[in-house]
Amino acid sequence: MYNSFMAYITLNKNNFFNNLDIITNHTKSKDKIAIVLKDNAYGHGLIEIASLSKIYGIKKAVVRFESEAKRIEKFFEYILVLADYPTSANAKMRYAINDINSIQKFAKGTKVELKVDTGMHRNGIDKSDLRLAFIKIKKAGLKLEAVFSHHRSADELTSEWFWQNSNFKKIKDEAKELAKEFGFKTLRFHSANSASLFRTSNFDEDMARVGIAVYGCLDADKKLAPVLSLYAQKISTRSVKRGQKVGYGGTKTILNDCLVSNYDFGYGDGFFRTLSNNFKTPHNKELIGKISMDNSSFIGEDEQLLIFKDARVLANLARTIPYEILTSLKADLKREIL
Ligand SMILES: *Cc1c(COP(=O)(O)O)cnc(C)c1O
Repeated sequence: MYNSFMAYITLNKNNFFNNLDIITNHTKSKDKIAIVLKDNAYGHGLIEIASLSKIYGIKKAVVRFESEAKRIEKFFEYILVLADYPTSANAKMRYAINDINSIQKFAKGTKVELKVDTGMHRNGIDKSDLRLAFIKIKKAGLKLEAVFSHHRSADELTSEWFWQNSNFKKIKDEAKELAKEFGFKTLRFHSANSASLFRTSNFDEDMARVGIAVYGCLDADKKLAPVLSLYAQKISTRSVKRGQKVGYGGTKTILNDCLVSNYDFGYGDGFFRTLSNNFKTPHNKELIGKISMDNSSFIGEDEQLLIFKDARVLANLARTIPYEILTSLKADLKREIL
């Protein structure tokens, strides 16, 4: 509880470590976990999650930009940058090659990981360009360390996951031969995100890039527990009479005289406005009226409200995915590790 008005986030360290224990059971080694910290660690706080990861003994991280990688450099031995170019030499950082024509943009000596398209058709080189990519990487003087891919529907129990795996297996075999031919060191291979890792019965890749499972919002294992809770604090209370309307546009008419309090969490902080008039807290406090930029109103007079402790509940109501709920939480919300 803070004195200033600012909704705040708590991070449950025990749940975080519990999730990492469960993930380690799948990867069989902490060293094979690359924790995905892009987008402010899925809204949890980049530095907070990086420091907890280090305490647990995680050595690898995945981010989107080099600027994020620099902020967390001291916590990890290895950082994969998904979509950026290096501005300075750095032994810890690896950069993803997402396109055959981007290879010449990396400075000589850069450690790179080649992304191949196994069926998602978003980023990565076409498998027919594998040899060409090796030629270009060699010519550019880059240090190729890994070949990786990404699943488009690992979270849906369809056959797609299997054919993407089988595409990747062929690419692995070919890449191993090419690595010998071109004189690169033994390559690492990785393709698993959270959903894929939890579907794999005998994980044998070199690492898994895990995001949502670490944060406890993956349905695949009921023992995974959400890490982030969001609390809002009361700004004011008033009594509202039957027939009066609350909030912008007067969209909610009060049916019985009651106390209504206003809290410091609105869509400007990451609350989904589509939940206006359609949300109850885990303790059954009813949201009334439109969610405003920095405010939302609830029936009652509690000093503070737990808005959510599981982003999946909000995601279902707002017809989106927990990733969007979490990454919408603004970076300036206070974050406290419990
Ligand atoms: C975001 C991301 C992940 C993590 O996905 P989760 O579903 O959160 O585990 C893994 N790999 C890549 C390339 C990503 O962009």
